[in-house]
Amino acid sequence: MPLDMRDRCEKCEQTLAMNGEAFICSYECTFCADCALAMVHTCPNCRGELVARPKRKVKGDV
Ligand SMILES: [Zn+2]
Ligand SMILES: [Zn+2]
Repeated sequence: MPLDMRDRCEKCEQTLAMNGEAFICSYECTFCADCALAMVHTCPNCRGELVARPKRKVKGDV
């Protein structure tokens, strides 16, 4: 798995589905949608903006 695709929310440690909704800042801090919303889309670590992570196409998922 590439380093830039973390599978756990850094705040609540909820597992994030690779093809599910997740938010990431420019320093690759990764959060679930619930935490991103709760933090008003601002990363608590670097104060960067959290943007929706591009969903990855899953093999066999058409
Ligand atoms: Zn979370
Ligand atoms: Zn960050």
